[in-house]
Amino acid sequence: MSIPSPAPLRVAIVGSGPSGFFSIEHLQRRLPGVSIDLFDRLPTPFGLVRGGVAPDHQKIKAVTRVYEKLAAQPGFRFFGNVEIGRDLFRDELLARYHAVIYAFGARSDRALGIPGEALAGSHAATEFVAWYNGHPDFRDRLFDLSQPAVAVIGMGNVAVDVVRILARTPEELARTDIATYALEALAESKVRDIYMIGRRGPVQAAFTNPEVKELGELPGADAIVYPEELELDPTSAEMAAAGDHTIDRNLQTLRAMAAHGITGKPKRLHIRFLLSPVALEGNGRVERIQLARNRLVKVAGHEVKAESSGETEAIDAGLVFRSVGYRGTGIPGVPVDPRRGIVSNAEGRVLSSTGTPARGEYVVGWIKRGPSGVIGTNKPDAVETVDHLLDDHAAGLLKDPSEGVSIDELLTARNVRVVDWADWRALDEIERSRGSALGRPRVKFTRISEMLAALDGAGTPTHA
Ligand code: NAP
Repeated sequence: MSIPSPAPLRVAIVGSGPSGFFSIEHLQRRLPGVSIDLFDRLPTPFGLVRGGVAPDHQKIKAVTRVYEKLAAQPGFRFFGNVEIGRDLFRDELLARYHAVIYAFGARSDRALGIPGEALAGSHAATEFVAWYNGHPDFRDRLFDLSQPAVAVIGMGNVAVDVVRILARTPEELARTDIATYALEALAESKVRDIYMIGRRGPVQAAFTNPEVKELGELPGADAIVYPEELELDPTSAEMAAAGDHTIDRNLQTLRAMAAHGITGKPKRLHIRFLLSPVALEGNGRVERIQLARNRLVKVAGHEVKAESSGETEAIDAGLVFRSVGYRGTGIPGVPVDPRRGIVSNAEGRVLSSTGTPARGEYVVGWIKRGPSGVIGTNKPDAVETVDHLLDDHAAGLLKDPSEGVSIDELLTARNVRVVDWADWRALDEIERSRGSALGRPRVKFTRISEMLAALDGAGTPTHA
């Protein structure tokens, strides 16, 4: 249902990932012709769809086709390569738009808080993900893939992505849009044993079923599951009997893997449960991970927590990825609650330090609710926020934008090379054509300077 508008509504959205685009979709649906300026600090849009979703999951990345249709609607403008807090500031946005929606996601990672975590060879999984996806901030990171064994801590879908990319053959990766430098580094990889380590049991694993199932179907790696680690404590058994489809299917998949065993593929992917990391050890760099074997203790209802049984285990691994969740950080003028890593909000209305709604400020996605859910989870999340924004608009609670120096004039005065939607389409076209010559979906630009040089005629770089 569209609502009558007393004045054309002007909205700024900070962050062009899925939650930003779901906000655009709902704004355009309810208020056709709404004026939307979408800001991103990178010249390229789509946030984690470009920089997070694994390169061998092109079907998931195809969601950008919907976003492209939204970007073609009248009233939409893209301001890529514009960082809020560097090129423009919160107060400047608030003065020029009826409303600002923060959609900047969760940019950092959670730490384990164990000794040795800072040793060389220990990395956040999120950095590795950004690296293989060609994110300009991470393209120069180095990961020692000469190590024969790698451990990934955590049992979520990010951990699954990381172990799968490590386990893929060069031929499989060569058909994806993985960054070219990552393709070359992974082709030289000496990694043979990959451990994915969960502190609780199979019933509590955070991965979804299609993702774990794929681990059992890799041409170049055997998935190894220990039958004794699939034995369920009474609370987990109750939970498993409660009819949850994901749990049912995950258990079936894991039991099939345990029955299947090793078939002699070049790599081995060990999926281990009930083990908590207690320390990373090594002489100047990670050499092994010390683990405590856990038992599960009922907390309440079907909720269980891991508690050390007193037994320990060590796994030799020269490369460790901590994959225990993303963490939101603020941008200048928009702080996060340090305890929860989200912008304080009530159903998407940003709350001021006194706990009252801040006029004209809204939040969506991971920076609203925390780093949970799949891409589609952001749709109802954005609908809730946008509905509140439009209610506030209809109630006359939003301030009219001021006249005077426009956003465009401010950016010109500050010498910011704004990448607009036509520029992005040009970059997209170059990436795709470089890819099609090689049988790949695209060959990504991974340096901002190369993207700007390609747009401004300083030659089209051939290497990304
Ligand atoms: P996640 O789903 O929250 O998983 C985090 C994992 O880390 C859990 O297994 C958790 O175990 C474990 N963990 C947390 N603290 C730990 C500690 N101190 N020691 C050991 N383990 C610890 O997070 P994520 O994998 O980063 O994924 C983020 C979101 O993106 C998820 O909603 C995910 O589904 C989504 N995603 C989806 C896809 C896809 O659809 N293909 C791909 C990637 C990401 P406990 O349960 O015991 O806390």
